Amino acid sequence: MQIITDPTAMQRISEDLRMKHQLIAVVMTMGALHEGHISLVREAKKQAGTVILTIFVNPAQFGPSEDFHRYPRPFDKDAAMAKSAGVDYLFAPEPDQVYPEGFQTSVITGSVAERFEGALRPGHFNGVATVVLKLMMLTRPHLAVFGQKDAQQLAVLRTMVRDLNLNVRILEAPVIREQDGLAVSSRNMYLSTSQRELAPHLYKTLTETAARLAESSEDYRAILETSKERLAAMPGMNVEYLAIVDRETFIETSPGTDPGRCLLIGAVRLGGTRLLDNVPLLSRETDEDAVA
Ligand code: AMP
Repeated sequence: MQIITDPTAMQRISEDLRMKHQLIAVVMTMGALHEGHISLVREAKKQAGTVILTIFVNPAQFGPSEDFHRYPRPFDKDAAMAKSAGVDYLFAPEPDQVYPEGFQTSVITGSVAERFEGALRPGHFNGVATVVLKLMMLTRPHLAVFGQKDAQQLAVLRTMVRDLNLNVRILEAPVIREQDGLAVSSRNMYLSTSQRELAPHLYKTLTETAARLAESSEDYRAILETSKERLAAMPGMNVEYLAIVDRETFIETSPGTDPGRCLLIGAVRLGGTRLLDNVPLLSRETDEDAVA
């Protein structure tokens, strides 16, 4: 595995690979690698001969009161994990190489980025879209693998790829979870012991709510409300949202219309740590098909 920090060197290597007709897949991360990230690398390796993993804690996607400075950066451990997962190139530039003095051009995301995470983290998705576009220009991938864990990010990036005619295939990989259901995340290490015990309730509530909605979707608003109240009653748990959305537009929707397009999304704050998760909505028929 080759470690590259210089953007120009990365670009030269990826252009060379393309000249040699190598299929390139990229996995973009902020580091503090875990099983979720490694699952994306595995998917990338299935799809392409060359896998580039990027590690970049992107200042442009953090708000002023967020955790940019304390975000974990265990680079040596990450590099060892990336190497043993079979990554070919680890691209880890410094912020001033990605945003040199005079930098002034950004991607402006649209309505898909306005609600939920976009509303709670102003500017976040513009920062994400800008760095993803830059990393795509530097790594020149044929395909990029992202996790369903960050479902709105996926919707925003799919929209950007479509709108800007980017010739990159977006693949999504399922959420990797701890044994108790908590979605694996680099930020889980911020949780105290008692917060860690409560954290799996987000996923538990999402799956229970999805099952209830599959039984009867008519009174979906009341079902969502009850689930929210149950979560909010847990000590130290702040519910930011729990909603049914169209997975492509992130517009709130009712489960009756087209359950296949619906996601049940949730975000809570436990102390200073935000947890995000989502589950697909199952239709009754899908459940029965699965049994049959
Ligand atoms: P991050 O380092 O948090 O920016 O995440 C980098 C990529 O890993 C994104 O595409 C995430 O959606 C994905 N990812 C993060 N956590 C998980 C997880 N538990 N399961 C699957 N993918 C994940």
